[in-house]
Amino acid sequence: MKACNEYIIVGGGPVGLSVSMLLLRKGHSVKVYDKRKDPRINSESGRSINLALSNRGFKTLALLGLEEIIKSQHAVSMSGRTIHSNSNQTNFQPYSENNECIYSVSRSELNILLLDEAEKSGIEIVFNAKCLNFVDSKETLVFEEFEISTNGKSILACDGAFSPLRNSLKILSGFSHKETKLDYGYQEFTIPPDDNSGWQLEKHSLHIWPRKDFMLIALPNTDGSFTCTLFLRLAGEHAFENIKDINSAKSFFIRYFPDAYYLIKDFDQQIKDNPISALFMETCSPWNLDNKLLLLGDAAHAIVPFYGQGLNAGLEDVDLFIEAVENGLTENLFSSFQKQRKPDTDAIGELALHNFIEMRDLVTDDIFMLKKKIEHRIKELFPSKWKTQYEQVTFSSLPYLKAQRNGRENDKKLTLILENEILTDHLLNNKITEQDMYLLSSIIM
Ligand SMILES: Cc1cc2nc3c(=O)[nH]c(=O)nc-3n(C[C@H](O)[C@H](O)[C@H](O)COP(=O)(O)OP(=O)(O)OC[C@H]3O[C@@H](n4cnc5c(N)ncnc54)[C@H](O)[C@@H]3O)c2cc1C
Repeated sequence: MKACNEYIIVGGGPVGLSVSMLLLRKGHSVKVYDKRKDPRINSESGRSINLALSNRGFKTLALLGLEEIIKSQHAVSMSGRTIHSNSNQTNFQPYSENNECIYSVSRSELNILLLDEAEKSGIEIVFNAKCLNFVDSKETLVFEEFEISTNGKSILACDGAFSPLRNSLKILSGFSHKETKLDYGYQEFTIPPDDNSGWQLEKHSLHIWPRKDFMLIALPNTDGSFTCTLFLRLAGEHAFENIKDINSAKSFFIRYFPDAYYLIKDFDQQIKDNPISALFMETCSPWNLDNKLLLLGDAAHAIVPFYGQGLNAGLEDVDLFIEAVENGLTENLFSSFQKQRKPDTDAIGELALHNFIEMRDLVTDDIFMLKKKIEHRIKELFPSKWKTQYEQVTFSSLPYLKAQRNGRENDKKLTLILENEILTDHLLNNKITEQDMYLLSSIIM
């Protein structure tokens, strides 16, 4: 069965809206359904929630002509991470040697911008339309209050991590779905702007308070505030279950994150009001039902947020899907797209999980930090020959799987260098000889 020219998009989040606009530009007809009310009319005032966007996400936003406006009006650039130690010391680690940045973007502003753009381009968006499932035998999409025929149309399920449309794939005999729940949850807090509407922490940085088995992070917002997220076990010694009341939460923060605590002005209220959410990953296979229905974005691959890549990966799906449509792969469009793409989204899922360990624990580990220092020196000595795994994931469009493999290779090379004490000493103390350079070249090439 060929892919159709008419698309029904379920889910008007960033992935659904981006793919609709790009399909429309390619001459396809599209209509978007979303379960929420129009956020422009029913704006949820109060807390700013943000996410980090980088190259892969911006590549798709650039296709929509929105990269510059987002970077200049709706985002704060972050050129590295600031580690806050137990003793209130800070240490800034740049993300790249070439001053490349990631961007903290307001989720609601991004969504509203995309909604405005989609409507400007003539796309109809139906709000308050909660989709329940797809009945393949009847070619029908069932919503809470109505049904629509999908005859002669294809469906893109961009309905997020809890995707009800994912369940419609269960009719496939080989369908597999895995939900991995972490024993961690998260809670968000806001550090308000100072009296002059300025930022109370270094603005162009992602702040991390790593505390071995838990951590706090903070990302800047354009209005001078920071959104902090506490990642903590749900049960156990250091766990949400033990900071349920205001006093225990207060002593926990004062003990582990005193500098952040004193900047969160209405801590008591925020602890009471802000929900604790679970952390989980979703993978499934395949992502498609013939050329009839295809999952994209979080609906296909929800990952944990520790590499800041969930939406970047979803927007990259959009870019690659449009490329496949352009290449005229109509016969097996959906299945060939997912076969090509899935190994990469699996790889970023694994990398994101591993990055949690790096962020909360390894950044205070001596060997890890030694490797980081050596890596930094190698980058200085061989700028065009060495790219860190973070750079490959964040500042390039290299397939995620390749970036993951290269990262493992990098790590082996760094271990090899560390085993050579003299070479390590020369590297760390700027005493590199010609012979060292020769040896290093042979290791890193
Ligand atoms: C704490 C946290 C931090 C994160 N930080 C980052 C980050 O720094 N960088 C990054 O790249 N990613 C981050 N992510 C991941 C990012 O939020 C998601 O990957 C991204 O929002 C996925 O976009 P999407 O359009 O696929 O899904 P969503 O944004 O979830 O949008 C889904 C849309 O579908 C609609 N919908 C849902 N169900 C139905 C239904 N039944 N019927 C109709 N419509 C429906 C919803 O209303 C919504 O509009 C983070 C995630 C979390 C939880």
